[in-house]
Amino acid sequence: MKFGGTSVADAERIRRAAQRIVAQREAGNRVVAVLSARGQTTDELIAMAEEVSPTPDRREMDMLLSTGERISCALCAMAINDLGHRAMSLTGSQAGIVTDTSHTKARILDVRADRIHEALTEDRIVLVAGFQGVSTSRDVTTLGRGGSDTTAVAVAAALGAEVCEIYTDVAGVFSADPRIVPNARKLSVVSFEEMLEMAASGAKVLQLRSVEYARNHSVRIHCRSSFVDGPGTFVLGEDETMERPLVTAVTHSTDEARITLLGVPDRPGAAARIFGALADSGCIVDTIIQNEPLGHGRDAEVSFTIPQEDLAEAQRALQAVAGELGIAQIDTDRQIGKVSIVGAGMRSYPGVAAKVFQTLAGKGINIEMISTSPIKISCVIRAEAVPQAVQALHGAFELGVGGIEEDHGPR
Ligand code: ADP
Ligand code: ASP
Ligand code: MG
Repeated sequence: MKFGGTSVADAERIRRAAQRIVAQREAGNRVVAVLSARGQTTDELIAMAEEVSPTPDRREMDMLLSTGERISCALCAMAINDLGHRAMSLTGSQAGIVTDTSHTKARILDVRADRIHEALTEDRIVLVAGFQGVSTSRDVTTLGRGGSDTTAVAVAAALGAEVCEIYTDVAGVFSADPRIVPNARKLSVVSFEEMLEMAASGAKVLQLRSVEYARNHSVRIHCRSSFVDGPGTFVLGEDETMERPLVTAVTHSTDEARITLLGVPDRPGAAARIFGALADSGCIVDTIIQNEPLGHGRDAEVSFTIPQEDLAEAQRALQAVAGELGIAQIDTDRQIGKVSIVGAGMRSYPGVAAKVFQTLAGKGINIEMISTSPIKISCVIRAEAVPQAVQALHGAFELGVGGIEEDHGPR
């Protein structure tokens, strides 16, 4: 069972999470719970660091950020003990979560769950601090924003758990962010493939890596509300899902920035050098556009999007390459947004992209970049147009409650 930040935000909610955990134990299940930091704690810790240092050291950042989740676990263990059960909280390191050494966005390499097993055998309820681990060089690491989802899936995989329940502040995975589209529909089931595309394009309800990990280790995810009972959304293999509608969901992100390089020499190896440098500095590049200059020997223009949090790192990496390649100018734009539609059914259907573009055009929204996969179409637009674009696309594809596509649920 994993509880997100809103679900443990105050004393009352911690007690409610404790009651849910205890209820599962009393139903005869062995329970490990992974908790996030309370409410806005992680944001507050980041702000504290920035007050002290404009470019905080990443190792020390991880020492700081990992404390939020420890607080939640210790408090919840106290609440569980008061309900007459025996609980034990563990840091990521104590729980055996071993990661690589890339501070602030480490990847889990292994879960050595013997300590969790021991505690379960002693009939304890185990609380594991989410979002953190210990690196192969014995430093505390964190797993990137939203990383407690990945902790939960990794622990579930290591223990061979029946299910990984992700308790959050919405009732499951919806056809769009319910905060932007009030009549968004809860999906009773979504395939790994679609969920990967949704998470990658901004549906932060599940961290992208948690979905990758679940697919690779066959973990059954059930994403559901920590406030109301009833089933949420199951994330399943394609073979287990019904035939899907054309379009399943509209997603969005305003957390990206665009970098445009002007005067890139038109010769073999230029792109390799640019994106090699970005990869070496750990920046994850998304949509890339390079125009073909008219006339041989003329300079090209290359644009791409990256997470805003990687912007400073990317600029540093590009400065070095710019001199070497003779790039004329590096422009950045933080005011971009991205809207995407995702659906396994669109693979074999013509005309979906045209309908996306017509819908945005109908609202007077200009498309600045386009990228596609077999089951996703993404458009970069102005950030301020994102809510309107999401609502328009959700309506155009009739995804809302009362839309023509019915949701059938697991077989
Ligand atoms: P937690 O703190 O529980 O990890 P998050 O804030 O990380 O919760 O993720 C839940 C939020 O994700 C919801 O409150 C919702 O606004 C947002 N969200 C974005 N897209 C979707 C979607 N398609 N379905 C459900 N929630 C979404
Ligand atoms: N507390 C971390 C964050 O805010 C991790 C998580 O909540 O999953 O990103
Ligand atoms: Mg989250």
